[in-house]
Amino acid sequence: MIFLDNASTTKIDARILDSYSELLKKYFANAASTHSLGNEVKELQEQARAQIARYFKRDKNDVIFTSGATESNNLALKGVAMSYARSGKHIITTTIEHSSVKETCEQLRSLFGYEITYLEPDENGVISLEAVKSALRPETILVSIMGVNNEIGSINDIYTISKYIKEHSKALVHVDAAQALFKVQQDYSYCDLITVSAHKIYGLKGSGALIKNKGVKLTPILSGGGHEFGYRSGTSNYATNIMLAKSIRLNAEEYETNHKHVQELHDYLYDYLAKQDKIQINSPKDGSPYIVNFSIKGRPGATIAQALDQQGIMVSVASACSSNKSKPTNVVYKVFHDEDLASGAIRVSFAKYTTLDEVKTFCTVLMSIIQELRG
Ligand code: PMP
Repeated sequence: MIFLDNASTTKIDARILDSYSELLKKYFANAASTHSLGNEVKELQEQARAQIARYFKRDKNDVIFTSGATESNNLALKGVAMSYARSGKHIITTTIEHSSVKETCEQLRSLFGYEITYLEPDENGVISLEAVKSALRPETILVSIMGVNNEIGSINDIYTISKYIKEHSKALVHVDAAQALFKVQQDYSYCDLITVSAHKIYGLKGSGALIKNKGVKLTPILSGGGHEFGYRSGTSNYATNIMLAKSIRLNAEEYETNHKHVQELHDYLYDYLAKQDKIQINSPKDGSPYIVNFSIKGRPGATIAQALDQQGIMVSVASACSSNKSKPTNVVYKVFHDEDLASGAIRVSFAKYTTLDEVKTFCTVLMSIIQELRG
């Protein structure tokens, strides 16, 4: 099997799996209990929280453990919207965000009357500073922009955009870093809220965090016993939370090695595909090395993906059409406005485990499938 769908999720790191299993065996108490086992569990979790806070240069009390990026995005957007409604009801985001941002914005619009401005990407799938500048208003309370796009890997200049926003407005800045963290180098010092997901970085599924700046107010979505400083009630999934800290540490330590390796895979595949006629690469060359999106002209991506699957190669096809079956809804369509390219889109995504031999095999198999289809 060759797994080239790592943007959807990554295989768990064996070191995480081992530690997780040890933790579950040894510690099973509720972190909120006051007996000694409960205290030990709590202490370990708080050490993990502090470690994450140090990495992001934020305060320990501003790391909120969640079930992943979907929940973090919901908490960031709904939490800010509800807490800052008196300052304004305008939110800026983009047309290429993950559904957990877009659908949340739609809910805020349709149920609570917020006004949402959706910024369009440029021809490289990137959100420009100019677009942000012209959308900002005195009543804008939040700007939410992803670090790296999950379908084509385009990288947004979060540092420049967030710095501008902080220097010229009162709006808070949220970054969905699910596909960016440890995949590309990005500076989040001007971001008020950062979404993190563990299973994109060889960690556990159902694990993530929302990291916030001191003083940022959030209305909780989950009310109850006041866990996570009141921002997210529910018995702590302590072992998972502790493993998030370990995933972050391992990824930080191994960033250069992993990045260099994956960049080589990316450049090989990119150059190979660029030489083929009838293939259009939809990812910008200087995008995240972890994602290469391309279309075979006149061939639905699903047909190619299925043929690859039969040969043991797993890739992904970006979402095809919206429920009303009118226009494709994927990012390729939003960038190129071409239905043929959009329905042909195939996403190959790498992990630190992917080898150059696997990428070469993929190229050979892909070419034979195309030949066969041309018949
Ligand atoms: N944001 C982005 C950019 C993503 O790629 C994903 C995962 N597809 C998510 C959010 C949701 O992440 P999770 O699975 O951790 O909820």
